[in-house]
Amino acid sequence: MHILITGGAGFLGSHLCERLISQGHDVRCVDNFITGRPENIAHLLGHERFSFVKYNVCDYLHVDGPLDAILHFASPASPQDYLELPIATLKVGALGTHKALGLAKAKGARFLLASTSEVYGDPLVNPQPESYWGNVNPLSPRGVYDEAKRFAEAMTMAYHRYHGLDTRIVRIFNTFGPRMRPKDGRVVSNFIVQALQGKALTVFGNGLQTRSFCYVDDLIRGIIGLLMIDSDKTVAQRTDRSGFLSSPAEPVSETIHDPVNIGNPRELTVMDIAQLVLKLTGSSSPIQNNPLPVDDPKVRRPDIRRARTLLGWEPTVSLEDGLEKTIDYFRNVARAE
Ligand code: UDP
Repeated sequence: MHILITGGAGFLGSHLCERLISQGHDVRCVDNFITGRPENIAHLLGHERFSFVKYNVCDYLHVDGPLDAILHFASPASPQDYLELPIATLKVGALGTHKALGLAKAKGARFLLASTSEVYGDPLVNPQPESYWGNVNPLSPRGVYDEAKRFAEAMTMAYHRYHGLDTRIVRIFNTFGPRMRPKDGRVVSNFIVQALQGKALTVFGNGLQTRSFCYVDDLIRGIIGLLMIDSDKTVAQRTDRSGFLSSPAEPVSETIHDPVNIGNPRELTVMDIAQLVLKLTGSSSPIQNNPLPVDDPKVRRPDIRRARTLLGWEPTVSLEDGLEKTIDYFRNVARAE
């Protein structure tokens, strides 16, 4: 397949580029390096099935030649980044998604949107199934990311319903692994870097808020599974264009175009993660309690029944094994600096 990945030099985008190239696909990567990094794709430059263009996907997007699929992964995605880049975050979720969808329509390409568990906001339901509408404060500092992705989902569904575009939406839960930026501000990267440097681990609030962490290889496998699954698997279309059920008697059935949660359902507190990182690094760093960011979700855990039944997907890498690999990565990064 000819595949274009926006945000292809980011943490997840670069893993996607690498995996898809190794599966024999032709990959074009677009990134403006706002949060992506040249070093994430340096090893791919020169590969015969890889090409890169530095570009902001909020601008008119044109590529020559055929495209079979577009994966829209461009966006700041760590809370620290989207709080520092609120307008760029809203623009890439809105304008960037529109441009990427327009290109998919022009090329007749399949479109996969990288959405997020943040669409559930500070959830009142735990674990979160895809059917949960969420609890989002649009005015909060986090609202820029949550609402950008909610808009992106709405736009994607509109292109599917109105233009008949073959679309997929993955809701990505907390993910970690090699190629996270040491200073991206996320909890796993922060704790590992702090532990390796003998600095205090910065636990925000009392550390009793929960998250569920997926190792990057598991996540990438789930995303590619969703991208590749045949549209034939689609259950009867839910509504007609105007949004009415095609027949009042017809059951509302989910389709492959509806969102799919991908994440690891093992839930633990932030304090548990701090203790685990200290244990696995052998560090004696102290723990320091910092203020909790505004509207920090109190719980988060994916309900992955849909991914299981639709894709036969299941995470396989344990948190401990994933952390060991990530700690090795950060040790090597530190050594190289
Ligand atoms: N967190 C923390 N210390 C840090 C960074 C994050 O305690 O140095 C907390 C943060 O408040 C949140 C959780 O860890 O409750 C996960 O934060 P992250 O930024 O990784 O992503 P989020 O799940 O909030 O999108």
